[in-house]
Amino acid sequence: MRVIGVVIRRLIMKLVALTQRFMQGRYGTDKLNTAILLSGLAACVLSMFIRLPLLNWLLTMGSYVLMGWAIFRSLSRNTYKRYQENRKYLRFLERIKDREHKYFDCPRCRQPVRVPRGKGKISITCPKCGEKFVKKT
Ligand SMILES: [Zn+2]
Repeated sequence: MRVIGVVIRRLIMKLVALTQRFMQGRYGTDKLNTAILLSGLAACVLSMFIRLPLLNWLLTMGSYVLMGWAIFRSLSRNTYKRYQENRKYLRFLERIKDREHKYFDCPRCRQPVRVPRGKGKISITCPKCGEKFVKKT
């Protein structure tokens, strides 16, 4: 029994080392990947309960695409690009959660500008390029 335990432990350690070597230089996972995977799983589970053929097919395909995308991202060697995607996703989440401010992009330089919500129509001055634009908050 003890010998088998040692053999199994060595095998697991070897597998871990192989996986680590395979993942070297690859992106791995992040919050965006978790969200993609969870939506893929949700689509998969939902498709099991939906009998409408077209909707069922769409959900099944959608779940494959989402899971494939998550796998692609975690194996990707373009870590900079994946990191930027995750940053965009996190910023998007932050904007949704923020109930006290509204976000606009400057029409000239695309700089994101944050203004307090519920102030009616206001004139916004871009802090980066000085462009003035009017928006409803
Ligand atoms: Zn600007």
